[in-house]
Amino acid sequence: MIQLNQDYADIKNQIEYLMNLDQKSYSKIENLKNKSTYQVLAGVYLLMANDESCFRMPIGLLGQIPLFIEEQRLHTQFHRNFLKNQSFHQQMVKSSLEILNPILEEDWSSNKKYNLDCLDKNEEETDLLYSFFKEVNPSLKDIFEDIVKQKHLYASNETYQNSFLIHNTAQKTLNIFIYDQGNFLIKLDSIIHELGHAWDCFKLDEKKPSELKSLYFYQSIYTEVFSFMYEEQFLEYLIENHKYQEEAKFYLQSLWRAYYNSLYDLHLYTELPSRKYHKIIHNSYPRSYVSSLTATSSWENIEDYDFIEPMKNCIRYSYGFLLGNFLIEHPEKRQQFFKIHYDLFQPQKLEECGMGKEEINKCLTKKFDTYFE
Ligand SMILES: [Zn+2]
Repeated sequence: MIQLNQDYADIKNQIEYLMNLDQKSYSKIENLKNKSTYQVLAGVYLLMANDESCFRMPIGLLGQIPLFIEEQRLHTQFHRNFLKNQSFHQQMVKSSLEILNPILEEDWSSNKKYNLDCLDKNEEETDLLYSFFKEVNPSLKDIFEDIVKQKHLYASNETYQNSFLIHNTAQKTLNIFIYDQGNFLIKLDSIIHELGHAWDCFKLDEKKPSELKSLYFYQSIYTEVFSFMYEEQFLEYLIENHKYQEEAKFYLQSLWRAYYNSLYDLHLYTELPSRKYHKIIHNSYPRSYVSSLTATSSWENIEDYDFIEPMKNCIRYSYGFLLGNFLIEHPEKRQQFFKIHYDLFQPQKLEECGMGKEEINKCLTKKFDTYFE
């Protein structure tokens, strides 16, 4: 059994460390990262440990006008890049949706025999994870062991119902939270997905990145590519090796369906004239109007929030899915893609890697035929 830590004391330590930083020794960008790490950790700590003590605003760190302006500048840069490449995204999404549309025609209710609820706790889970590391992906093993040793593999809870990673850049520490729904297949899959992000963080820190590259997790549309690739590799490994084969295949199909929804939502953004795009992003339309246009029902539940994060998520999950798929089929392209993936999106760079829409869709069709026959 893989144990998830439920003692959040070290999260509190990290929050206190961040609260006591001397801003003057950090650049504007570093301060911005420290501020958002603090906010995320404090929010998580409040809900996981049920302790409000960390949520008092440290004077001088939060609500700073220069940091606020910096944040807005990064948002503007992100939207500008999206709008500049809107027609590229539009063609990419349109052609992949055409391949994926039959997903919608499947009657999923008839698939009950593979209901994953039957996959309860499993003594084998550590062995399965380690055999995946050994046979498919050795680079994740050390990262996993390191995080476990630091007791930073935490349990997420019912309020979040989500697995996620928090990169504390000030202390160069990674915290992984896993939502365990009592199903070991989903638990392992989530661990591998988050390890994919951890791998990305390690690689980025190793590179001693320029300021622009260091904004990868804020600015890039590629942040989900390697996580999705590892996650799908794991499910394919199970399927090919006849380990929980039918369940893994069923779960892979449901993942694809979720990613279909992201592509569908992205399609909406690629169709918008820029004026309307800005209005939606900045919350100038009734929420019900926007969510009626999208496939992801969770949008209806967003409160006091604008659509910047949901927009970033749908483009990241879409490209994660499309490119992750491609890179499983083309291991020889991984190194080349890795070199460009910390930069701001430029379509010609992707095409130079041999990752144009034709090539990507060829892989999509191949996999679709394999898993949805
Ligand atoms: Zn992710």
